[in-house]
Amino acid sequence: MSNPLDRNPENVPGSFYVDNTCIDCDICRGSAPQFFTRWDDGGYSIVHTQPVTEEEIAQAMEAMEGCPSESIGRE
Ligand code: SF4
Repeated sequence: MSNPLDRNPENVPGSFYVDNTCIDCDICRGSAPQFFTRWDDGGYSIVHTQPVTEEEIAQAMEAMEGCPSESIGRE
């Protein structure tokens, strides 16, 4: 389960984040590239844009549920 205390520092501020357990599998970046991208220097994903609308939040939630290491969280 994701831990907000372990947020990767490169996430943009906001409710959604990726924590330091990301295994760099590419699933979130493939399914929701509008929110997630790879931080190449660290070899993990981060949130580059926070979802705003209900539809966007639903898309981000779907990515969160699809993360195999449960590294995506929402505060
Ligand atoms: S789906 Fe999860 S483990 Fe895979 S890249 Fe995204 S945050 Fe990392």
